[in-house]
Amino acid sequence: MSLAPLCNLRPPRARCAVRALAPALALALLWWCGPGGAADGAPGAEPLPVFVSVVPLQTFVERIGGDQVRVRSMVAPGQNPHTYEPTPKQVADLAGAVLYVRVGVPLEDAWLPRIRATNPGLRVLDVRDGLALRPNDQVQPAPGPEGDADHGDGHGDHDDEHGHDHGALDTHVWTSPPLVKSMGAAIRAALSDLRPGQAALFAANDARFAADLDALDAEIRDRLKPLQVRRFLVFHPAWGYYADTYGLTQVAIEFEGKEPGPRALAGLIDAARAAGVRAVLTQPQFSPRAAQQVAAAIGGRVESVDPLSADYFGALRRVTGVIAGGQTP
Ligand SMILES: [Zn+2]
Repeated sequence: MSLAPLCNLRPPRARCAVRALAPALALALLWWCGPGGAADGAPGAEPLPVFVSVVPLQTFVERIGGDQVRVRSMVAPGQNPHTYEPTPKQVADLAGAVLYVRVGVPLEDAWLPRIRATNPGLRVLDVRDGLALRPNDQVQPAPGPEGDADHGDGHGDHDDEHGHDHGALDTHVWTSPPLVKSMGAAIRAALSDLRPGQAALFAANDARFAADLDALDAEIRDRLKPLQVRRFLVFHPAWGYYADTYGLTQVAIEFEGKEPGPRALAGLIDAARAAGVRAVLTQPQFSPRAAQQVAAAIGGRVESVDPLSADYFGALRRVTGVIAGGQTP
């Protein structure tokens, strides 16, 4: 609540009176709004405290919730969601949250049961619900005479006793704009349940967000349409949903957190050369060393695009530009 605009319209003496009364007015408003008023987002109501797992989800919740939400991401920019552990302060702060938006990163399974034990009222929204999920790429698609043998060579120690799950689902669901549109609808429904008085605002924000996503989707399709080579090289396989949506094949250098062995790497390099790929995508959460090695071998370049960026639309445009421009015609 702010009294500043009101003060500015008054002559000086009246302004003093309003200033002097401000604390009393604030208290009166708080009393008058009570819990019901606050729940409906009436003037003076606190924003809903929301936690999300990764930064793009924060962007989405803020687009729908506007000034009715205060969103914090567990994994901060630059941190790796595959290995991140919450801090004690984050766990303590979660006691005051009303909504947690999850997407399948490992910290959720490890921590949400504990967080729910201390905050039984916490509502958890899984934005993957109802979406067609893709499995992680099982084997790097590195064609060549040795094919599957490369998998054994490069990733031979990936078995169940090491805790790796080859059948696990790809968690980078937000890299597909049409899927984000569904997430927006789910977020709108959750926020409308929590604050029914603002349902119209959330619906309007969601409609704008969906229109922006449709425009982004059309722009990406347009940009990728003329591409002959529909495969791209990436260090960490974060763009699988993007690839599926736009008819591309993601070829990852790293696989389940491990860099490839020499034979797998040689196979990747040969395939990239044969396909005319000129760019290797990397992201700030991982060392660019292996990507630089591959880029040097194919006479190409390393391009960093952050799939965890707060600037979702910018990141999607940038990855599209790199893929569209990273190949010989
Ligand atoms: Zn990832």
